[in-house]
Amino acid sequence: MEQARVLAASRRMFIDGKWVEASSGATYAVPNPATEESIGTAPDATTDDMKRAIGAARRAFDDGPWPRTSHQDRARILNAIADGMERRKEELRQLVIAEAGATYLTHDIQIEQPINMMRHYARLALTFDFEEPLPARVSESMLGTQVNSGIVYRQPAGVCGLIPTWNFPLFVTVQKLGPALATGCTMVFKPSPWGPLINLLLAEIIAEADLPPGVVNFVTGQASAIAETLVSDPRVDKISFTGSVATGKKIMEAAARTLKRVHLELGGKSVAIFLDTDNLDMIAPQAASPTFFHAGQGCAMTTRVLIPREAHDTLVQKMVDFVKGMVKIGDPADPSTFLGPVVRAERRQKIEEYIESGKKEGAVLAHGGGRPKDLRRGYFLEPTIFCAVPNNIRIAQEEIFGPVVAVIPFKDQDEAIRIANDSTYGLGGMVLTRDTARGIELAKRIRTGVVWINNGINFLDAPFGGFKESGIGREGGRFGMEEYTEMQQIVWKA
Ligand code: NAD
Repeated sequence: MEQARVLAASRRMFIDGKWVEASSGATYAVPNPATEESIGTAPDATTDDMKRAIGAARRAFDDGPWPRTSHQDRARILNAIADGMERRKEELRQLVIAEAGATYLTHDIQIEQPINMMRHYARLALTFDFEEPLPARVSESMLGTQVNSGIVYRQPAGVCGLIPTWNFPLFVTVQKLGPALATGCTMVFKPSPWGPLINLLLAEIIAEADLPPGVVNFVTGQASAIAETLVSDPRVDKISFTGSVATGKKIMEAAARTLKRVHLELGGKSVAIFLDTDNLDMIAPQAASPTFFHAGQGCAMTTRVLIPREAHDTLVQKMVDFVKGMVKIGDPADPSTFLGPVVRAERRQKIEEYIESGKKEGAVLAHGGGRPKDLRRGYFLEPTIFCAVPNNIRIAQEEIFGPVVAVIPFKDQDEAIRIANDSTYGLGGMVLTRDTARGIELAKRIRTGVVWINNGINFLDAPFGGFKESGIGREGGRFGMEEYTEMQQIVWKA
């Protein structure tokens, strides 16, 4: 494919301000999920490489100027990175297509929002309350009466181990990079083995900004041992991970040995509750969206569609009609494509196992379930709709992370809330109703970190994160900044 040739590149890692190969010299090929052809290679780091990067970040924090750099300088550098991303936006776009299989439909989140987010954190470097005055207190002691003053000061959290995922690779990396830099932390990124090249392109952009060596390091590789080293090394103060619940649990367990601060952004099994039933033509595309938007590979996608029992059959038919008529499957580099590939063959196989389990456990397959016949290469799957799904079977309880949606009928509003909350996850949710006030009341009963009502959008400055097993901590705005600081009480006799 033309595009794959254009992108073919071997990138190096960024450790202590230098571009380096893995110490073993090993590299690994990164495939384009739409073609299965290699688009380039990334260094396959060893645990020694990771230890070197941690050492560099530790030195940059303990002995370097960055933690004490003025807020103005931090803002300037964050804006310089945003400018660099803007300048190289088309390269970023081509890589997110070729490496993550991301269709144009996703590019606002993939490309535009991360640039806005960098600028947002540049502003927060200037406006965040690093220092808050405490009201004066009078105290009595043997020495007499004294007036005490104080501040709450927020120091940078220290050396951060940052493990982002591959699905929205720039977005997830920048959500960590922005607040970590704005608060004065130093850091080591260990990108997903499935998304190294776009992270290394971002590293090139960061390297052009005026940062001291060792403040930001990128270590790429296939083995989970590299990430495990980052989590267990006592020189690291904090871990922020975006990925699956299973890995999140392992990280928390390993981080406990050195009592690291742990921030986890994990998976979801979010609901969309449709309350009105007289506008099914309008809502069918929204109900079907996880089957085509980034092939269902999003953490907060509304993969459980809850619909009043009496409207179930009609809505399902309209979803099927929409998907058959509108959802063009194929090359994500073609702007008219709705549904691209899933990221790897092994992910496709796992999704297919879920589809089989849905059939066996009594859900009705209304559409899809197989591989598109006309696409012989690439990790494609048909958009798949299950209906009449009981909420207690695997396809309703477990995160599939593929183009599969489960339609679940409900009797009344209370049952809808019970079904929504009958999940170990708690990331996202949606309520669709003409009665916004009713939607807000229902949202307050849903145990998830975000609820969208109708077409409400995520605010970049509002907290994003999970209840229950969907995670610990919040990203976004000042809430994200808080995660990268340690609070300190400084008090004195006035
Ligand atoms: P994953 O759990 O497979 O994570 C893979 C990463 O974890 C790799 O970088 C790997 O090196 C590392 N890793 C593996 N074992 C480790 C260990 N023992 N210790 C430390 N690190 C280890 O997840 P994934 O496939 O990369 O991501 C998909 C998941 O991410 C989905 O569940 C999705 O919902 C979630 N996600 C969440 C958000 C959010 O904001 N909440 C955003 C995007 C994706």
